[in-house]
Amino acid sequence: SLPIPRWRRVLLKISGSTLAGNAQNVDPKVTMLIAREIAAINRLGVEIAIIVGGRNFFCGSSWVGSTGLDRASADQIGMMATIMNSIILQASMENLGVQTRVQTAFKMAEVAEPYIRRRAIRHLEKGRVVIFGGGTGNPFFSTDTAAALRASEINAEVVLKGTNVDGVYDCDPRKNNAIIDHISYRDFAAKGLSTAMDITAITLCEDNCIPVVVFNLHEPGNISRALSGDQIGTLIDQ
Ligand code: UDP
Repeated sequence: SLPIPRWRRVLLKISGSTLAGNAQNVDPKVTMLIAREIAAINRLGVEIAIIVGGRNFFCGSSWVGSTGLDRASADQIGMMATIMNSIILQASMENLGVQTRVQTAFKMAEVAEPYIRRRAIRHLEKGRVVIFGGGTGNPFFSTDTAAALRASEINAEVVLKGTNVDGVYDCDPRKNNAIIDHISYRDFAAKGLSTAMDITAITLCEDNCIPVVVFNLHEPGNISRALSGDQIGTLIDQ
């Protein structure tokens, strides 16, 4: 039995590296686990929008670092990678009977709808899971920032950021440091904890009073736990 949800409309950010699991690009076990959890929450009547990263296929900034090629082109490939992940998630959820729509930040009309804010909200109200592909549609941004932007646009009550680790570590997770339970937006930015969440994204969430929960997506049941407001991972807010 699932707990009573604390939030009615949520924006779930899934990092690309989480989808990779033990596979090279996408681990079917991970996508099915995520799809099952989302299906359960969808049945509770929680409105779910999703932003997925793309690093499991392509990371713009590391490509630029190793080749010296221009960032804008590399980022376009990165954004298309996020659309591939979006389609995979969509297919996995539809396989479980969840109604979904993918909306892309730039037109890919044969593959998905274009992003239209009011239409996205309408889908959510009808109980469909909306997956936003293509990040913000702009190079030099991240899918964390896309998550903060779309969450602000659709009035989501929280950004749930699912990752490979248990939350925000003060320092290097490999050093076995404890997870921070709670941190303010300001302290998060001051400490430069950008490996856990992009600082631009945190700033946007702060401006729009949207709390962020960073948690481990590989632990079954964690999305529901995060939703029910249980202490899980790291809460970033005022
Ligand atoms: N990207 C972009 N603009 C955006 C979102 C993403 O240019 O608004 C590109 C960028 O190259 C980035 C890649 O898409 O490296 C994948 O996104 P991100 O690194 O945020 O994915 P994640 O780390 O969550 O897998």
